[in-house]
Amino acid sequence: MILRDSAALRSRVTEWKKTGASIGLVPTMGALHEGHLSLVRAAQAECARVIVSIFVNPTQFNNAHDLANYPRSEAADVALLAGVDGIFIPTVEAMYPEGYSTSVQVSGLTDRLEGAHRPGHFSGMATVVTKLFGMSGADRAYFGEKDWQQLQIIRRFTQDLNLPVSITSCPTLREADGLALSSRNRRLPEAARLRAPRLHAIMQETAWAIRAGRPIAAALTAGEADLEAVGFGPIDYLACCDAQTLMPAREMTPGQTLRLLAAAALDSVRLIDNIVI
Ligand code: AMP
Repeated sequence: MILRDSAALRSRVTEWKKTGASIGLVPTMGALHEGHLSLVRAAQAECARVIVSIFVNPTQFNNAHDLANYPRSEAADVALLAGVDGIFIPTVEAMYPEGYSTSVQVSGLTDRLEGAHRPGHFSGMATVVTKLFGMSGADRAYFGEKDWQQLQIIRRFTQDLNLPVSITSCPTLREADGLALSSRNRRLPEAARLRAPRLHAIMQETAWAIRAGRPIAAALTAGEADLEAVGFGPIDYLACCDAQTLMPAREMTPGQTLRLLAAAALDSVRLIDNIVI
């Protein structure tokens, strides 16, 4: 069932809640792929009712060209979601009506990495996710590790604002050649698609080098050079960070979990990925 505004969503959810059903929410921007569907399956395994939202949120795009070119495929998405209980597809006007003036700002975590390269992105994301939590009354919400920094920020503001939602994360789904599934992959020209898995491969080599004791700074410099050599550019970052705070790590410290995160363009298509070290 497609729901196009918050009143329709709210009345559905109210009925479900009367029966004591738990509600799972999977927020997406559409152009669905197996990665999104893995979140849906995780939600279905744990929740009596599952809502998937599809909303290309304009306030999290810092680049008008990127927003205009973001892939949209509503009919195909709806077909893929045949088994879910509600598909929430609001209009921009329904989400941000005349007079709308509120945003959610998370400090610290949002300054680095994606935040440094996409000003306003995380505030737009945090705002729309908070709104979706409020509109859906979800008990649980599902997010991918593919957007690692986003996941840490969502955990942070959910805790800070005492939002009554439990956050579950799901591992990154990849193509057989290692490329992380992403709606943006559809925009890769054929030759670039063939080179794109090098991002994950070079990240793995970099992680192995760090685990083997190579100084982190040297491993990152070598990784960036390898990315450039296969045609990535600009490389926004290749960074080794504490997995939760995302503060840059200079060395391996016992007991600390590190994450390697990267953002780099290939033929003007910006790809992001992250792996554990
Ligand atoms: P998006 O539509 O790009 O906003 O993504 C919606 C949700 O799907 C986010 O929680 C993403 O982290 C998640 N997601 C995107 N790609 C993948 C993937 N390859 N594997 C797992 N989850 C993903």
